Amino acid sequence: CGIVGYLGHREAYPIIIEGLKRLEYRGYDSAGVALFDGTDLKISKTKGKVADLEELSNKTITKTGNVGIGHTRWATHGVPNDVNSHPHVSNSGDLVLIHNGIIENYESLKKELTTRGYTFKSDTDTEVLVNLIEDVKKEEGVKLGKAVQIALNQVIGAYAITVFDKNKPEEVVVAKLGSPLAVGIGEDEFFIASDASPFIEYTKDAIYLEDEEMAILRFHKGIKIRKIKDDSLVDPYIQKLQL
Ligand code: GLU
Repeated sequence: CGIVGYLGHREAYPIIIEGLKRLEYRGYDSAGVALFDGTDLKISKTKGKVADLEELSNKTITKTGNVGIGHTRWATHGVPNDVNSHPHVSNSGDLVLIHNGIIENYESLKKELTTRGYTFKSDTDTEVLVNLIEDVKKEEGVKLGKAVQIALNQVIGAYAITVFDKNKPEEVVVAKLGSPLAVGIGEDEFFIASDASPFIEYTKDAIYLEDEEMAILRFHKGIKIRKIKDDSLVDPYIQKLQL
């Protein structure tokens, strides 16, 4: 039930792990992290506590990379286990996504995707969403941000999501409806989290996304916020965080 992400010039892993610990109060049954290390995606996820995730990561992944996302899961669809933990990866292996909330119409979306050849490893609603985004992206030949927008317009439910494409790791897309999502703006770096506590020591500038807004964060290029429904641009409202 927590989201942490980083895009910038620092090592993402320690920021994500510390951030997930600060979000532990929100409650969870599993935890996971995905990093892009400059060459490939590294994913580590497990049922249990953030401490268990750290132990697993120490054994299984190189914890380097300047882009990453982390998640604590409170299972709604699919039992708490390693496979159902987030992040979830699309069938092609390109897109990686974390999600808080519920995709209520996931069954009909899953059926549709299955007829189109998609397969699913987990029992989660979330894995349906990452493949829906992939399917839209392929079908429409659109960029990730647009694909996320089109996909979310087919979704009924609640969400805070963070997603990126390992082939274009300088860009991270976030969106929100119902669940909270804050973006911390640093110098040439972005922090993403369910609340500002994971990034308060790095930056005091934060944008709290409103419901039905999405943001595209681009390394060196800044942030663009749009309304998911009508595609209109939203002026970023940057709040000064108090210590
Ligand atoms: N519905 C998703 C799942 O069960 C996300 C749950 C959450 O908010 O952590 O995996």
